Amino acid sequence: MEYKLFLNNYKCKIIFYIRHWKNLINIAEEHIGVNRCPSVVKKKKFLLIILLLISNCTTVGFHDNKLRKSMDFGEEQTLNVCVFYEDSIGKSEVVELEKDWAEELALYKIKLQFKNIKKVERFAFFGTDVLDQLRRYKLGTECDRIVYMFGRTWGDIAYEIVTLGIFFGVGVKLEIHGAVESYTNTRGFVKSKYAALLQLLFTSPSSTLVHEGYHLMGCPHMLWKDECYKIILDAKKKNRKNTRDDKIFNVRSTGDRQEYYSSEQVNYFWGSDTEFIGDNKK
Ligand SMILES: [Zn+2]
Repeated sequence: MEYKLFLNNYKCKIIFYIRHWKNLINIAEEHIGVNRCPSVVKKKKFLLIILLLISNCTTVGFHDNKLRKSMDFGEEQTLNVCVFYEDSIGKSEVVELEKDWAEELALYKIKLQFKNIKKVERFAFFGTDVLDQLRRYKLGTECDRIVYMFGRTWGDIAYEIVTLGIFFGVGVKLEIHGAVESYTNTRGFVKSKYAALLQLLFTSPSSTLVHEGYHLMGCPHMLWKDECYKIILDAKKKNRKNTRDDKIFNVRSTGDRQEYYSSEQVNYFWGSDTEFIGDNKK
């Protein structure tokens, strides 16, 4: 089912990119200055960009800086995140990722805090099984969201080689670098360590986290972030009015846009019964 969905997504994206190739060239020119390159280099760079975009599976949208800067996101609000990280990831790497995501959220005057972090042994091999286990963990005053960071084992390396083989063989990339459940958009996982292999051609742990971070704010996949800006602005407005003791940073689900504003509500939805107890508190 998921595989099917992924394939459909993939086809849609290719059609989408073909339709919008002119826009993509403009974006490329703006971001890396391809217009200043000789035409042969320009062509090559353009192909590289297309390859990167297609292989990146899906996008949460390009920034519209002018629009975002014209919006007033109000006062700074805090997003508390509880993080599970696997033992092959160093704490400094967790801090580094936190910094990258924090930089992105600062655009919306949101202060990111990895409030509780906990080192764990791998929950399960596949991300979907990890997501399933994350349901057990309760949100609370210190956890508006829960993120699970995958490390890297020999088993992963073997799996990566197989999936890359399939990618070059039939052009379908099976590996998923991160995901957020779309029912409440309150928990997800990211692969946080795959340096030195071909994965870096497609993405990086930091860009995966930033991407999933947008889902954790309630943003779906889109070409431009304009709708996402409105979703974040709206969430902040609702936070401001929320006076509940068990309030969480407001978020909405992807499909039916159900609003979630309290830990009680989310914990009831998932039947969560386990406290997140971090190794240390900041
Ligand atoms: Zn996504």
